[in-house]
Amino acid sequence: MSAFFSSKHTSLVPYVPGEQLNDKKYIKLNTNESPFPPSPGVLEAVSGEASRLMLYPDPDCKPLLSALSKVYGVDESCIVVTNGSDEILNFAFLAFCDDEHPVAFANHTYGFYKVFAGLYNLPYEEIPLTEDFRIRVEDYIGINKNIFIANPNAPTGIALPLSDIERIVASNSDNVVVIDEAYVDFGGESAVGLINKYKNLLVTQTFSKSRSLAGGRLGMGFASPELIADINTLRYSTNPYNINRLTMAAGVAALEEDGYYKDNCKKIIDSREYTTDALRKLGFDVLESSTNFVFAKCDRIDGGELYARLRERGILIRHFTKPSIEQYNRITVGTKEQMEALISNVKEILEEK
Ligand code: PMP
Repeated sequence: MSAFFSSKHTSLVPYVPGEQLNDKKYIKLNTNESPFPPSPGVLEAVSGEASRLMLYPDPDCKPLLSALSKVYGVDESCIVVTNGSDEILNFAFLAFCDDEHPVAFANHTYGFYKVFAGLYNLPYEEIPLTEDFRIRVEDYIGINKNIFIANPNAPTGIALPLSDIERIVASNSDNVVVIDEAYVDFGGESAVGLINKYKNLLVTQTFSKSRSLAGGRLGMGFASPELIADINTLRYSTNPYNINRLTMAAGVAALEEDGYYKDNCKKIIDSREYTTDALRKLGFDVLESSTNFVFAKCDRIDGGELYARLRERGILIRHFTKPSIEQYNRITVGTKEQMEALISNVKEILEEK
């Protein structure tokens, strides 16, 4: 730390992203990316756009908003696009939370919520999940705090039904409720249809998972025009060009080929069911996932050891060292072939013990 670092940041604990290793070829099941490449139209659109890189991108992101409006059936004034959904989450903490508007989120959820709460020095509460890693809806009813819920949740993969989300949103009408739907396309129920009914609801989604664009960094938010205007005030006060030309072109093209991505989601869901079954047969406890990952533990091997042994064999999964979940690993669901390789390696590791 330099002598110049502001004292307001000295106790900040930054987010730790999953490993992105280049030392050899891995089967990469650690950061919930899609195993499928972007659709052909995306590749063409990006290479066509490259010759215009000397020009700034459109700060209003018109073509992208128009494409999103068509696919999601939402007015353009109710949508904002950001540099990954991490950026809209950041804006939501910055825009709506302060000492008078503290924050609440689950004790096991997306790690960035706590980082943002720390970054802005916000009072926050971590609401414990149940023993079986579920959100207890009653804990979120009328709590007088801004609420961030990942639905489906991470790293558990468990989804809440839309009726529960609606109860939470309706009972906290004086606070903003952010529903982070990064994984919704793999089996969750989206709350986007509720944004016209509830002025305090912000739904965030991403192109990183189901639309194979993690490297492009494209996320979006759906909410009332008033909440979207607030987010845009911050966007224009920080980086109006937050969506670069290549990403904008990629996003528009991806939305034109939605069928390709829907088919890939089906493949991933099939592959998830295969993986869940196969791990259970090997004695794993696997939570019921509505996402492109599974959260699993096995009494026959320590969570950290399984992670390390798979890593030696060229398979990366995600292990968290937080004591209450250290026996678990979060395993991204890849192609059927990748998951077969995972299962045969896990089997061998267990046999060696
Ligand atoms: N929300 C959740 C629950 C996530 O797991 C992630 C991925 N790390 C994100 C948001 C952010 O994803 P991105 O910035 O790539 O859209």
